[in-house]
Amino acid sequence: MHKTTHDAGMLTEAAAAQAAGDDAEAWRRRDLAVLWHPCTQMREHPDTLPLLPIARGEGPWLVGRDGHRYLDAISSWWTNLFGHAEPRIAAAIARQATTLEHVILAGCSHAPAVELAERLLAIAPREPGREPLTKVFYADNGSAGVEVALKMAFHWFRNRGVEGRTKFIALDNGYHGETLGALAVGDIPLYRRVYAPLLAEALFAPSPDAYQCEPGETPADRARRAAGTLGELLQRHADEVCALILEPRVQCAGGMRMHDPLYLKLVRELCDAHGVFLIADEIAVGFGRTGTMFASEQSGVQPDLLCLSKGLTGGSMPLAAVLATQSIYDGFLDDSREKAFLHSHSYTGNPLACAAALATLDIFASDGVIARNRVTSQRMADLAAAFADHPHVADVRQAGMIVAFELTRNGDKRTPFDSAARIGLRAYRAALDRGVLLRPLGDVLYWMPPYCIDDDALQLLAATTRAAMDHAIEEAACA
Ligand SMILES: *Cc1c(COP(=O)(O)O)cnc(C)c1O
Repeated sequence: MHKTTHDAGMLTEAAAAQAAGDDAEAWRRRDLAVLWHPCTQMREHPDTLPLLPIARGEGPWLVGRDGHRYLDAISSWWTNLFGHAEPRIAAAIARQATTLEHVILAGCSHAPAVELAERLLAIAPREPGREPLTKVFYADNGSAGVEVALKMAFHWFRNRGVEGRTKFIALDNGYHGETLGALAVGDIPLYRRVYAPLLAEALFAPSPDAYQCEPGETPADRARRAAGTLGELLQRHADEVCALILEPRVQCAGGMRMHDPLYLKLVRELCDAHGVFLIADEIAVGFGRTGTMFASEQSGVQPDLLCLSKGLTGGSMPLAAVLATQSIYDGFLDDSREKAFLHSHSYTGNPLACAAALATLDIFASDGVIARNRVTSQRMADLAAAFADHPHVADVRQAGMIVAFELTRNGDKRTPFDSAARIGLRAYRAALDRGVLLRPLGDVLYWMPPYCIDDDALQLLAATTRAAMDHAIEEAACA
């Protein structure tokens, strides 16, 4: 570029910014004319909520059509692991696209589906003395994966002539997706309440959430207490129940509420004692998010059914996998077609998605991701520690690559903000103005960045989080 004078350079820059702003605005209008966005009160666009047209992604950054860069601090709904447009994943998808883009997986087979199943089973949680997970069933998103696991557990008993085990146990404050079956075992009122008349009845047990510890109670005490109540529930209802489903270690959609790994260990014992399947929904916490490859490992527990999605493809393609034990699989072998597992999605085991997942597993191996994350999560811990004495922060908690801040009126647990104050929304807007994409869950601000985030970006994240918090609280007080 030829810059004749300093002023001309400034003018060019200003003109470019103006053009980018106009371009973003044009896309906003085209979008709102035709799109219906997920989990969004469309009435709030464009005035209350800014819509952010994105041109491309680059590492942990999103580049807006407005020319600004935004740090993707929530890994695009917890999917992204190694940054956007990761070249090795992109290349794997491109290679696969010119070889075999898709084929029906009923009756046909292909290498990416087979290899991915082999490799997932090889790294799956293992418990000494328990029969390992040996079979993989694919679906194409997390909710569909949950449906698969629920149907499998129910159908397995049915195939053995047990008709009474028609219910599931789930946890208070849990989340498993938004299709009707998954919603029935979820307990987030915002998603559930309206659709409640459509949902199958589930049994709910208390959450082991450490935030709800009584004064003097440790997270392990809380885990024991929650497991105690679960034990009573099983005592009364075990013969009506086919499976228990939970999110190990962190209830993510429920506000990044974390619990002691002891809980899953106690649940495993209770499920064994009552002959109930244990379904671990590691859709959000799997693939290194809580510090270990799978969160169940921290409890030394292997579930009977393991649901994976989100990070499975590094955040590039929709795919889910349900891992099952041999006995579950064997329970469907019969001469009758009705005893087969009757579930099929058109894109089951899509080769492009499997190729992306294989590239993701390669990166885990070649880049020593879990070890590197230990360094990154320590740095996150150091930065988060500075929030502990913030006057409105009631709790700072961390599990590996997830950090959460619970905001309350007086900085103690008993004084939550009025939800009408919309602290989260205000913080979202304030952070966006400062170049960071946070998407708070109610009054919980959290960090769940792509693993490739560097120290400069982490410092920006910490500084922006604090500024966004303060801005949101001040703004709400004035409103
Ligand atoms: C996101 C999520 C799901 C649902 O996955 P989708 O791909 O969004 O349908 C299920 N369970 C948990 C724990 C999740 O975080």
